Amino acid sequence: MQHYFIDQELNLGMELTLPAELYQHAIVVLRKQVGDQFELVDIHQTVSIVTVTQIEKKTAQVKVVEQLDQNAELPVAITIACGLPKNDKKTELIVEKGTEMGATSFIFFPSQYAIGKWNKQKVAKKLERLQKKATSAAEQSHRNVVPTVEYRENLAAVADGNYDCRLVAYEEAGKTGEKSVLAQALTNLVTSNSAARLIAVFGPEGGIAPAEIDLLKAHGFAICGLGPRILRAETAPLYFLGACSYQLELASVD
Ligand code: SAH
Repeated sequence: MQHYFIDQELNLGMELTLPAELYQHAIVVLRKQVGDQFELVDIHQTVSIVTVTQIEKKTAQVKVVEQLDQNAELPVAITIACGLPKNDKKTELIVEKGTEMGATSFIFFPSQYAIGKWNKQKVAKKLERLQKKATSAAEQSHRNVVPTVEYRENLAAVADGNYDCRLVAYEEAGKTGEKSVLAQALTNLVTSNSAARLIAVFGPEGGIAPAEIDLLKAHGFAICGLGPRILRAETAPLYFLGACSYQLELASVD
């Protein structure tokens, strides 16, 4: 069933006029008719089923007919922070696929070995485009939350955030066989806190500079490996999210 986000509270039995963008997509593009249904996620992350009750020239009315107890979110809120990838395509891939895989937010920052650069005048436009990608991926993957996409001027501004667990995926740790930090961190988080927030930092194509590792360590980041293979800049955060989902959502055998 089609799944959209709406910027208001919804209650059972309520009738409402669709916002212009939803009208455009559901009624104009997908040609929903009176009686057809789709899902709307409200500001409290509650998923409602609505039925189209009336269609006019530029507006449509829907009615909330059911509210579902449906949660597609990971039990830990994960922020993916990446040194600027080489080009927009890779950035978009991280946001789109990372949203499907459950990330709560994305932060991009210029890093020492990054080739990519975001011109100051273009930051707002790039974020707007990425935010749209996040919204459509969240709709497509039936999320309860649309992840946020942000830009920070430097790594120190990334490291300053408020998190329960801070990790940096470091290629050198992968190469030297570090393989317990991520699993241990996830185990600690779920046993200690029901709404835990985790940030994971990833390098760009050129990797992470030793000075950046030192800065992160000073901010309480633990270094983790992601296995013996060196993953590309866009693959590493996606692998990380997949590994978190496996441990947090799939690995239990009871
Ligand atoms: N050019 C570097 C690799 C950079 S890969 C080299 O050849 O060593 C891009 C980023 O993905 C890294 O900075 C790191 O954050 C992450 N990454 C890739 N593979 C990893 C692994 N096996 N373990 C931990 N992090 C990894």
